[in-house]
Amino acid sequence: MDTTAAFLGLTCVDCGSFVEPTDGHGRCPDCEGILDPTYDYDAIDVDRETFEDRPFDSMWRYEELLPFSRETAVSMDEGATALVECPALAEELGVGRVLLKDEGRNPTGTFKDRGQSAAVTAASQADAADLALASAGNAGQAASAYAARAGIDAHVFLPSRAGFTTKAMVNVHDGDLTVVEGRIGDAGAAFSDAMAEHPDWYPVQTFVTPYRHEGKKTMLYETVEQLGWDVPDAVVYPTGGGVGLVGMHKAACEFRDLGLIDDVPAMYAAQSTGCAPIVEAVEQGRDVHEAWETPDTICGGIEIPDPGASPLILDAIEESGGGAVATTDDEILDAAIAVAVNEGLEMGATCAAAASGAWKLAERGDLGEDDTVVLLNTGAGNKDDDVLRSHLMGQGI
Ligand SMILES: *Cc1c(COP(=O)(O)O)cnc(C)c1O
Ligand SMILES: [Zn+2]
Repeated sequence: MDTTAAFLGLTCVDCGSFVEPTDGHGRCPDCEGILDPTYDYDAIDVDRETFEDRPFDSMWRYEELLPFSRETAVSMDEGATALVECPALAEELGVGRVLLKDEGRNPTGTFKDRGQSAAVTAASQADAADLALASAGNAGQAASAYAARAGIDAHVFLPSRAGFTTKAMVNVHDGDLTVVEGRIGDAGAAFSDAMAEHPDWYPVQTFVTPYRHEGKKTMLYETVEQLGWDVPDAVVYPTGGGVGLVGMHKAACEFRDLGLIDDVPAMYAAQSTGCAPIVEAVEQGRDVHEAWETPDTICGGIEIPDPGASPLILDAIEESGGGAVATTDDEILDAAIAVAVNEGLEMGATCAAAASGAWKLAERGDLGEDDTVVLLNTGAGNKDDDVLRSHLMGQGI
């Protein structure tokens, strides 16, 4: 395996076991815990100029802080997305600045590309012939795209309610698509059965592979650099499995510990009231979630009733001084429309939970009048054009 100089291997977040990168394809072999890429930070010699001197062209410009080099990466120049000023939204919320990190500008239209670029690079380094995952849709599309680029066969399990675009594009990338009747849990069960039958398949599933949160952490590096090394006061993130939230908090701690910034941003999880296990856990002061009984939200990307990484998500929220907020599907879709009308920016349906969540955070006084607030637009609006348009129809428009 061809890894970067400071990358040591994988550490289990539960039992602390250390696993060599060559052996770490999934969960901890000792306790099934999540494996986290670990580095020798003393061996990472970077400062602000290191990054400023590089073109802003790909998430792999932070290769010193990633397990694999840019040269070996399975990449389509994902990342390096725009951070767009939203003055109308800032005025509406009564805060200093609102900026939208527009992940819709990725190769397959969502931030899932960052996670898959890192995970499929690991699969390719492990000489995998096949990879597999279950997904609500976007990760499946991204995985089939990166697998195609790497010459690996992708086996993608999506629930029947996944959006048409994601299913169609898995086909277009010649992925092996299985549509499973039901919801994400049913797709997950079908994936587990298939993995038991095909132990040689390389999993690129949320928090089964150790590498997806590692790819997504680059969103925070970029945001801070784009703000001229200012740390935002709040980052609001539409939270499903929490891969991005955990990754971004890790990234902030790394930049702080390397002396590039002084503080970490408060991380806020935004969910739909139709499936809000993280919000419930925060409100009840628990350090692990309870599975949400009857998930029901139109926001497929965050309809994750049983997020296995909830202890990591809740730790990140607490350590960073953040919080969690739930809004209704109606409020979320209204927010997507409001942003499209007032700022011109197109937010996916799931993604707009960050905008409606920020509205609610402002209303309840969690955001200050001078605060800089970053909203993660995790995917492009036109991936959900049908959902957004029918919301208008529901209003007689
Ligand atoms: C997957 C997804 C999310 C949730 O991501 P996690 O990191 O698993 O919490 C949010 N928005 C969109 C558009 C997604 O596809
Ligand atoms: Zn372990």
